[in-house]
Amino acid sequence: MLDRKIYLDHAATTPVNPLVAEAMLPYFTEHFGNPSSQHSFGREAKAAVDSARARVALFINADPEEIIFTSGGTESDNFAIKGTAFANMEKGRHIITSSIEHHAVHDPCEFLTRFGFEITYVPVDKDGVVDASDIAKAITDKTILVSVMHANNEIGTIQPISEISRITKAHGIAFHTDAVQTFGHIPIDVNQLGVDMLSLSGHKIYGPKGIGVLYIRKGTKLTPFMHGGGQERGLRSSTLNVPGIVGIGKAVEIAAELIDKEPARQTALRDSFIKKLYDQVGDLKLNGHPVLRLPNNINISFNNTDGEFLMANLDAAGIACSTGSACSSAGTGPSHVLHSLGLSERMIGCSVRLTLGRSTTSADLEAAAKVITASVKKAREMAPRF
Ligand code: PLP
Repeated sequence: MLDRKIYLDHAATTPVNPLVAEAMLPYFTEHFGNPSSQHSFGREAKAAVDSARARVALFINADPEEIIFTSGGTESDNFAIKGTAFANMEKGRHIITSSIEHHAVHDPCEFLTRFGFEITYVPVDKDGVVDASDIAKAITDKTILVSVMHANNEIGTIQPISEISRITKAHGIAFHTDAVQTFGHIPIDVNQLGVDMLSLSGHKIYGPKGIGVLYIRKGTKLTPFMHGGGQERGLRSSTLNVPGIVGIGKAVEIAAELIDKEPARQTALRDSFIKKLYDQVGDLKLNGHPVLRLPNNINISFNNTDGEFLMANLDAAGIACSTGSACSSAGTGPSHVLHSLGLSERMIGCSVRLTLGRSTTSADLEAAAKVITASVKKAREMAPRF
């Protein structure tokens, strides 16, 4: 057991930055107004929302009017996919997505098949990269939407979004990307990426849970997600979550200050940790692209072991990591992402994801490497059981 716990599961969620919590607090008690109200309490809340909206917009090079606040990444993905589908179903009922999307994209697509939509799942290569030419080949005159994630939550592979957007633009097809995992880790510029819609979530960038953003480029056709009081330009009714919005705004402000240095620091830690594991443990496979990869993601299959066994050993020592995606760990079976890379069930079963964060130090990783080395050794001694 270590003398302190080490959290290596930042892709699942991050702690709220104390400055974020501090910024939010007055909006529960003092400045509690409804931003739609016409009096001073309402105006105060609205000013805070406007300022957070402007901050988020600036961070992704969008116009504030193109920012819609949602309840999180899952809602943003659902809104983009179902909203585009319902708005364009007379034009065509074909959607293209990748085989490694998060369930928040995959499952709404599956849901739409009940309404006569056809979904094409383009494959990925052995490193998890989508080939833009596969998207081009899959387009038909019925295609109304392409959705490909900016980076994958399990393996960290970053996709060629700008290349894909050149294709969707040429065909006049709406293009959505789930950028929940890249938010705060690599710069996001909606114009450089060329996307029409982009999903973000607060709790992956040291902000609160239950707040997200859907960027919607001006002119993109979407059916409203929630009907009611007409908030968010009538696209997403419901009284705004002012503390959450202030929180994501503050989290973005901090992320913007750190983005020049922190990703590079994490990339260096990541690479030296991977090298250490190759040297100390051996007989392992790094899953995902070696370079086109999120700065904080390490996903490794340790041959002749069991991921659950390793995770339990790490947990007992005070180190938190995950096997596959924590978002999809609700009994969904072996990772569809690792399966798409061509990994056997056996290799999928011995994979572990470790994701670094702002508080991760090289001493943490030194300690983690020791525990992993001992756990893998123990597992391999028991190998016939696996
Ligand atoms: N998309 C991706 C890629 C994610 O990793 C996650 C959460 O892990 C989500 C969507 C869902 O976001 P939220 O938890 O804010 O609903």
